[in-house]
Amino acid sequence: MQYISTRGGINPVSFTEAVLMGLATDGGLILPRTIPRIGSETYAEWQELSYQELAFEVMSRFIDDIPEAELRELISRSYASFDTEEVVPLVHHGSLHIVELFHGPTLAFKDVALQFLGNIFEYLLEKNDSVMNILGATSGDTGSAAIYGVRGKERINIFILHPHERVSKIQEKQMTTVTDSNVFNIAIRGTFDDGQAIVKSIFNDLDFKEKQHLGAINSINWARVLAQVVYYVHACLHIASHESDKATDFSVPTGNFGDIFAGYIAKRMLPEGTIRKLLLATNSNDILSRMVQDGDYSLSEVVPTSSPSMDIQSASNFERYLYYLLDEDPNRTTQAMTRFVETGSIDLTDFRDQIQRDFVAEKATEADVSTCIADFYKKHGYIMDPHTAVGVHCALKHQRKGIPLCCLATAHPGKFGDIVEAAIKKTLELPESIQNLSDKESRCELMDADRNLIKDFVKKHAKHI
Ligand SMILES: *Cc1c(COP(=O)(O)O)cnc(C)c1O
Repeated sequence: MQYISTRGGINPVSFTEAVLMGLATDGGLILPRTIPRIGSETYAEWQELSYQELAFEVMSRFIDDIPEAELRELISRSYASFDTEEVVPLVHHGSLHIVELFHGPTLAFKDVALQFLGNIFEYLLEKNDSVMNILGATSGDTGSAAIYGVRGKERINIFILHPHERVSKIQEKQMTTVTDSNVFNIAIRGTFDDGQAIVKSIFNDLDFKEKQHLGAINSINWARVLAQVVYYVHACLHIASHESDKATDFSVPTGNFGDIFAGYIAKRMLPEGTIRKLLLATNSNDILSRMVQDGDYSLSEVVPTSSPSMDIQSASNFERYLYYLLDEDPNRTTQAMTRFVETGSIDLTDFRDQIQRDFVAEKATEADVSTCIADFYKKHGYIMDPHTAVGVHCALKHQRKGIPLCCLATAHPGKFGDIVEAAIKKTLELPESIQNLSDKESRCELMDADRNLIKDFVKKHAKHI
């Protein structure tokens, strides 16, 4: 399988080249040249596979430069860190199917992709006899999942900036209690945006980037999208064994458009009608639900909500979908993205019908979220986190009689315990991995939000061959 850029400015690359490239060198996002189609016979044969076997079947359609045994081993290692053999178990409550994506080491769905990405990086560095120093900024969830993805790996050091005292206590502890010698947590005196700006500007110093073997682990890496395609297929197979109508809708709590884009790939890959609609669920940061409903893709202010991992306006994966919407034309995609950077908006009103063939959208207010957590607990005894509740609220509003609907549960409720406890008026039982966090040894540098200080620190601690 060859990979191309949405902006058309790179020669086709292989899967492993695409993984190491991250962002395409022309500023675009990387996509497979074609989306493989799975026939109904093959799909039916997948019914009995374990999650790991299914992951191999799906991923090997997109990867032809890692030998089979090695890919199987990478997959198996990535999901051994999950606390259940099913990896992403499905539960059924009322009229909904819920696929729990939070059984990885940091209790959020980002583990599904980042455990895999960490192992691929390690594998490729070994192969190329190389090293990588990962540098990133986080507002909470991604940082911890990235750290857990690469902790203890010999050829990788990771430097993660978080805003001092502006992430939740659990998020902070999840990161800083990883004391492996290859992990460097840096709390900066500033905001998430300050951290992001510092990281961006350091990556722009191409000489430094090359000398220090800098690498990124952000949400645009194709390997992350690919790892997420697997659980859509897995959920469809399970639901098909439960329901007479097999065409399934998915409700996806959305921020950066990464998770739901994986659903879009799955939809195009699976036999016609396996996935019916993707319900794009947002909190009050609703640029994407406006895009689906009115064709209006225009930025507004980011407002903080109880689902902070979705407090995003500029969705880093949206360009991938835009490319398909614009008939896979890299020139039109480039023009549209340039216009977006200049004006903060793209007018997609002419594409509304096309968008609505694949997507529907809904938003949830803060009141909707806490009511949803409380009501669902009262009715079904099931406790969910605020991100999941955004999706469930939207799902219950949109559900069509007779059509199975699957909600993605993206974080463990204990990770956002204060909000959940306030809604259900009950103390939560926390999973072991976060119960003991405050007693654990932790390590973190506190630094001013100064690009040169951070640069010196990275240089001093970077790994070299
Ligand atoms: C990252 C995240 C999301 C949003 O996923 P995107 O791929 O950015 O759309 C939703 N819920 C949780 C818990 C997350 O960490």
